[in-house]
Amino acid sequence: MREAIDLSLTNMQAGRGGPFGAVVVKDGQIIARGFNQVTSTNDPTCHAEVDAIRKACQALGTFQLDGCDLYTSCEPCPMCLGAIYWARPTRVFYGNTKADAAAIGFDDQFIYEELEKPLDQRRLPMQQFLREEALVSFKAWADKQDRTTY
Ligand SMILES: [Zn+2]
Repeated sequence: MREAIDLSLTNMQAGRGGPFGAVVVKDGQIIARGFNQVTSTNDPTCHAEVDAIRKACQALGTFQLDGCDLYTSCEPCPMCLGAIYWARPTRVFYGNTKADAAAIGFDDQFIYEELEKPLDQRRLPMQQFLREEALVSFKAWADKQDRTTY
């Protein structure tokens, strides 16, 4: 956790992004270090946790973090929480709370509130169409004999 916190401070002071750091640990060893790079890479998805997950999976040569723990300097936002669930680490430890983040201008509460609403009441318009055409790849996947499930 202290490594994640240190990354959150040094990364921010170096001008790479917001004050967020994360590390992935396996068998007591840090296998990946991530930090927020949203503003320096023009990548709105480059949060510390996503960065750490990408690097850890690359280091391990896998798409799942079995037996790994993720330490993050702040309680994950909804995007990172989704990424963490997909990566399937064993545990998550966090330092700052989402309320602490909101207090300095990183408020993700609106996303949680949006998820509670029906699609037609969200601030981001979403419309479904061309389902039959989109289903072609799903049917091909279902029929694919050598697929890698995840
Ligand atoms: Zn995030």
